[in-house]
Amino acid sequence: MTNKTWLAVGIIIGLVAGLSLFLIKKPGYSVDYQGYAEPAKPVATYSGPPPRNVIVFVADGMGFGQLSLAMLASPAEASVWQRFSVRSWYDARPLRGPISDSAAGATALATGALTQPGRVSVDVEGEPLQSAFELATKRGWHTGIVTDSYIWDATPAAFTTHAVDRGDAASILRQQAMSELMVLFGELEDVGEDEVPGWAATEAILKQRFTLLDAKLTLPKGVTPNQPLAAVFPEDSIEDQGSVPTLRSMTALALERLAAMEGSFILLVESEEFDSAGHRGDSRRLVSALGAIEDTLTLIMDFAQQRGDTLVLVVSDHETGGLALTYDPDTYPAIEMKWATRDHTSVFVPLLAEGPGAEIFQNISRIWQVGEGLNSLVASADD
Ligand SMILES: [Zn+2]
Repeated sequence: MTNKTWLAVGIIIGLVAGLSLFLIKKPGYSVDYQGYAEPAKPVATYSGPPPRNVIVFVADGMGFGQLSLAMLASPAEASVWQRFSVRSWYDARPLRGPISDSAAGATALATGALTQPGRVSVDVEGEPLQSAFELATKRGWHTGIVTDSYIWDATPAAFTTHAVDRGDAASILRQQAMSELMVLFGELEDVGEDEVPGWAATEAILKQRFTLLDAKLTLPKGVTPNQPLAAVFPEDSIEDQGSVPTLRSMTALALERLAAMEGSFILLVESEEFDSAGHRGDSRRLVSALGAIEDTLTLIMDFAQQRGDTLVLVVSDHETGGLALTYDPDTYPAIEMKWATRDHTSVFVPLLAEGPGAEIFQNISRIWQVGEGLNSLVASADD
């Protein structure tokens, strides 16, 4: 090759390399995070009849993409999502930065206070924040947890315990074992003494305080109505409508037990499945999660609407996956799910509410106001 040819080859290689470097390095268009520019409107005070019971459904990782999919994929007349008279939305950011995690999110939902990611119902100094469950217990209410995630996961943990670190399984499990909970249903991965120091002692307390149920949720003979129940299942065993047990079957038993006890109750039902699907970019898991969540919500709404005295609140802690829904009738006439990230995003999240007190959640703008509203309703309920 001549010198000129070498020069031409060199220029072409240089151009290609430069262009790819430019394309790879080019940052996405961004805006500065402005922190706390927008003041929150006060939570409305409620003067109607207080709810006797409260059911909080946390759809971990649910944003408007997930809710839109739910509503677009089911016929309007049969959709449980259409049964909520209050439809609102809020900014779920934690104390620092625009992106939350389940610990900071659930802390705000449970206590009405902001904290930093990783904290479980404690403030930045590590001081405990009172949760709606604690307030309810002080007022003589019964409390229960149902989750398709592990029982010491950040969401159930924030409603039932306090921990500086969401990874402190030993402390969280011990607090749950010693709690006043009447129902504790969810998963528990194989925790040994290495991972969870003191586990043997905690397990002994758990077994002493709760009657443990099998996977079929069979009530052992002689169980009294006021006997606390626990059921723990291996990791990832509660996923969709085909799992044993299902989120719906656990919720059904929890409602049956809590409703049969004297007085009020507050029940937390959590589905982690939207979050898990988002972290994996797994559209199939998202769709099967949707079925399990709709089944459970239908049961909850039937229960609440038959009674008329129970508030149902459906909330989220953050969006996961940056879910977008696309549709192209020319190539494939179905809704296609596309994921922008494998992480949590800072997009605002939806809230649905129905029942006594639901209207106070109509005009909220920040996640902590959900917790404030919840606590004010528990505080105002009749003794
Ligand atoms: Zn997550």
